[in-house]
Amino acid sequence: MAHAEREGLACGRLTIDLEALADNWRSLAERTQQTECGAAIKGDGYGTGLEKAAATLSRAGCRTLFTAVPDEGLRARSAAPESRVFVLAGLLPGAAEAYRKGGLIPVLNCPDEVIEWAEYCAAAGQRLPAAIHLDTGMNRMGLSLEEARLIAAAKDVVARFDLVLVMSHLVCGGDPANPLNARQLERFHEMTALFPGVPRSLANSPGIFLGADYHFDVARPGISLYGGRAMDDGENPMRPVVTAEARVLITHSAAKGETVGYGAVETLRRDSRIAIVGIGYADGYHRLAGAGGGHKPANAWVNGHVVPLVGRVSMDLIALDVTDVPEADCSRGDWVEMFGPHIPVDDVAAKAGTIGYELLTGLGSRYTRTYIGGS
Ligand SMILES: *Cc1c(COP(=O)(O)O)cnc(C)c1O
Repeated sequence: MAHAEREGLACGRLTIDLEALADNWRSLAERTQQTECGAAIKGDGYGTGLEKAAATLSRAGCRTLFTAVPDEGLRARSAAPESRVFVLAGLLPGAAEAYRKGGLIPVLNCPDEVIEWAEYCAAAGQRLPAAIHLDTGMNRMGLSLEEARLIAAAKDVVARFDLVLVMSHLVCGGDPANPLNARQLERFHEMTALFPGVPRSLANSPGIFLGADYHFDVARPGISLYGGRAMDDGENPMRPVVTAEARVLITHSAAKGETVGYGAVETLRRDSRIAIVGIGYADGYHRLAGAGGGHKPANAWVNGHVVPLVGRVSMDLIALDVTDVPEADCSRGDWVEMFGPHIPVDDVAAKAGTIGYELLTGLGSRYTRTYIGGS
C-alpha cells in the first residue's frame, strides 16, 4: 500500500525528524569536545527505529553505538557497518562465537563473562574486542571493586582479549546536587586506575550535562539524542525528534454533570465539546496521563490550541476537551499532536508519573511512521 493511502487509514501517526536527531548528536559532540561522542540506540533507537537511528547517526559521524541486546547489535551492525557496536547486556552464556561472527563487542558485566570471553579468544586464537563494566554504585551491572582487582591482577586473563573500553553508569546524573555523582566519579577514577591506558566511558546524557569531569574518552548519550529531557530541572536544549499524532474520529457534545469514559472518574463542570481521537494505551500513550491518576490530565495540541485530556485513557481512544476550540480547528479527520514540538513528551510522561524514555520506547506498532530529514 502506498504511504499516502496507508496514512489515510491511520488513526495514529509518528513523524520522526532524522535531521533533528543528527543535529542533537552534533550538539552533544560539541559539548563533549575531545571526548568521542557515541550513541545509545537500544530500545529500538528509543522508539525511532533502530536502523534509521543507526544510519543517521553514522552519517553524522558517530562511530560507536551501544545496544542493549545482541539482536539489536546485529541490526545496528547491518545498518551502520563502519561503527563498532557494544552489547550492554553482556556476554550471554555460550554465545561468544555468535558475537564474533556478528562483529559484536560484549560489555562484560561479571567475572564469569570476562573469563568466558578470554577463554573463547584463547581457543579462537584471536584477541577480540570487549568492554568491562565497573559497578560504581548502581548495583545493577558490572564488576565490584574487589572483582575488578582480581580481574586486573589476573593479567593473563585480560591479555587474551582486546580491552577497548572500561565503563560505568550514573545513578542520579539528572540531579546535579546529588552527592552520589561525585562519589561515583571518585570510584570510577579508583577502579579504572586498575586498567591503565584503557579508554574510559562514564557519561550518559545526564553525565554530559554534568560537565567535563564526567566526559572521559567516550560518551554514551541516549535520551538527549532523541529530544527527551536528561536533567530533572531546567531547560531541555535538545530538538524534539518524535511527533506522535492521533486522528479525531468524532466530536460530540456532553452536558455539564455528565462523565466521560471508563470509571466515570471525571465529571464535566460545564457543557462541553469532546473530541475522540483514535489512539490509546495500546499505542503506548500511558493510561495514567489521563484523568483518574490523582492529578490534572496531560494536554494535547490541535491547530494552535492546547487542550486537556478528559476522562480515562482507553486502549484505543482518548477524549479531549475541545470546548474552547473553534469547530473549524478541531473536527473529524483532524490530526492532534499528543506529544512533539508543542507538547513535550516529558510533560505527558510526568503526568503519568513516568519519564519520556518510557513513552518513546513503548510507542507500539499501530502508528504509520514518516521519516523526515533523512538523506
Ligand atoms: C541507556 C544507557 C545509556 C544512555 O542513557 P541516557 O540516559 O538515555 O542518555 C548509557 N549507558 C548505559 C549503560 C545505558 O544503559
